[in-house]
Amino acid sequence: MSLLDTVSCLDGYDPNALRVDKARQAILSCLAQVKDVEAVQVRHALGRILAQEIVPRINVPAHDNTAMDGYAVRYSDLAAAETRLEELGTALAGKPFKGKVGAGQCVRVMTGAVMPAGTDTVVIQEIVKTDGKTVVIPPGQKAKQNVRYAGEDLKLGVPVLQPGAWLRPAELGLIASLGIGEVKVKRRLRVAFFATGDELASIGEKLKEGEVYDSNRYTLHGMLSRLGVELTDMGVVRDDPAALKKAFLSASEKHDAVITTGGVSVGEADFVKQLMAELGEVLFWKIAMRPGRPMAFGKIGGAFLFGLPGNPVAVMVTFYQFVRDALLHLSGRTDDFAIPLLQVISSEKIRKVPGRTEYQRGILYKEKDEWRVRITGQQGSGVLRSMAEANCFIVLEHERGAVAAGEPLQVQLMEALA
Ligand code: AMP
Ligand code: MG
Repeated sequence: MSLLDTVSCLDGYDPNALRVDKARQAILSCLAQVKDVEAVQVRHALGRILAQEIVPRINVPAHDNTAMDGYAVRYSDLAAAETRLEELGTALAGKPFKGKVGAGQCVRVMTGAVMPAGTDTVVIQEIVKTDGKTVVIPPGQKAKQNVRYAGEDLKLGVPVLQPGAWLRPAELGLIASLGIGEVKVKRRLRVAFFATGDELASIGEKLKEGEVYDSNRYTLHGMLSRLGVELTDMGVVRDDPAALKKAFLSASEKHDAVITTGGVSVGEADFVKQLMAELGEVLFWKIAMRPGRPMAFGKIGGAFLFGLPGNPVAVMVTFYQFVRDALLHLSGRTDDFAIPLLQVISSEKIRKVPGRTEYQRGILYKEKDEWRVRITGQQGSGVLRSMAEANCFIVLEHERGAVAAGEPLQVQLMEALA
């Protein structure tokens, strides 16, 4: 089935005034996921996508053990008043107590120590009186307190991770806790990108009249690197059909996705559009959004194509709103990776007309226990400083009109724990 067949049957598909949510849906409905799998050491699996199920062959923890430093006792020994117990010895993490604990006896235990045979409850050391031989336990203890049970974290035979899981530091630790040293992951997505434009100079060149330094390849490099894809920077390609054709063909041969910037509007030198259509199947969209109206999505050979606008802010916005999710899906992720929308208070009025989704650049800050947002200065799609100053996108929904000061609105955080 062609891309056009796939997307044109989507409800509300209109290439000349495509809503953001529809464009996202259209892209996702066309994508397939990477199938190739490779084995990597756990440490190298960070940021990768799991391609196997992880089933524990052991319990974690492997034994019942103490959660606190204190004394392991038999709860049935404890009286309503104080209880005196004989201290038999000590158990440390990794150095279990060998004997059995009988009535009226206890063992000094350190966090992580295996619960000595016969004991079921741990009394913390801070509330206990001891002379090294006899221990006095105050009343008011609860049965089984301060004990961590075998399999409480991970249970033998019960699957913990599924194919498609994104491997973060927590997952690496979890896999390591099972004693597993190597895992199967999806191969990295291969992504090529280039910038188009006769006005673009590269770093190291002297700016001639009318030229600008190419910044899009640098923002793309940054955004793609963080997604953990294998990337190929193909440089700047002139607004020249032969050069563009060569670039598209070589990029699409060896990559899963190709990203370009510029040349998708209706300007005279915008050959990119024509060429994309000639070489593969490409859909041109006017998306009801700001910034970032024109965009192309298509396929050349086996590679998905994202023809982003040229304006630097539009590149970043369309990347985050469409390309990011598409690449994560292509990579094989199955968790819900949509960027969350958080509701905060607008500290100022913001101009907005209904009929398009806007992604203004905002600064989220805390004032008197309340999270508020204000816009960075100028919001032009060429003002990259607005991105650098921002820590969030202010997402003004399609139907929404102007925002008054004090009104709630939604934001997407640009960075969190990374
Ligand atoms: P275009 O979409 O090709 O018409 O470009 C729109 C605007 O973005 C023009 O002002 C371009 O000069 C600018 N632009 C395009 N590509 C880049 C780039 N790689 N780096 C910086 N600015 C760019
Ligand atoms: Mg151009």
